[in-house]
Amino acid sequence: MNTTMHSHIKTILWSEDQISRRVSELAAEVSADFAGCSLAPIVVGVATGAFLFVADLVRKIEFSVPVDFVRAESYGSGTESNGAPTISLDLKVDINARHVILVEDIVDTGHTLSRVIKHLKSKGASSVSVCTFLDKPARRKVNVQLVGEGKFYRGFECPDCFVVGYGMDFAEQYRNLPYIGVLKPELYE
Ligand code: 5GP
Ligand code: MG
Ligand code: MG
Repeated sequence: MNTTMHSHIKTILWSEDQISRRVSELAAEVSADFAGCSLAPIVVGVATGAFLFVADLVRKIEFSVPVDFVRAESYGSGTESNGAPTISLDLKVDINARHVILVEDIVDTGHTLSRVIKHLKSKGASSVSVCTFLDKPARRKVNVQLVGEGKFYRGFECPDCFVVGYGMDFAEQYRNLPYIGVLKPELYE
């Protein structure tokens, strides 16, 4: 607690300003794509990592959207998920016959997203789009199968390294960093 979390960061990949500009662009895309729908889409964030992105994104969407969260947990090492996440927090909002925009912090292997999409489909979503702030396609193990006419939105392509900040943690730390960066390697040991 004596040193600032900023001193733990080796490199900043996306600054607070860059994040904010990209979130505005994504919100404009989403607003335009769903403007003609009779019922607004439902935004479903994946807790905990997506909480800041959800908060920023929905405030820039131009119509009223219901917001809910799910939590998916996998038991992997500190920096990698294993292949079998389970849903440990379920939705409160009814998504049956509704368009859903699933909001994630980062898609890595794709296991978490695939599991959550399957869950939303089983609850009757008529389409599932994905809006992830970061995408690491180099590490994908399972393809992300959208539902119905669902679209895939992404903020930035992330290089193959472990990042923290803007909601993303290392051992529950650094989520509140306002930018996205890479930790100094000695902090992983
Ligand atoms: P996946 O199931 O696609 O492998 O991983 C999804 C989840 O693992 C993300 O939602 C995120 O919580 C975590 N994750 C994947 N890559 C990173 C990363 O570079 N940094 C952090 N902090 N979490 C990550
Ligand atoms: Mg996540
Ligand atoms: Mg995590």
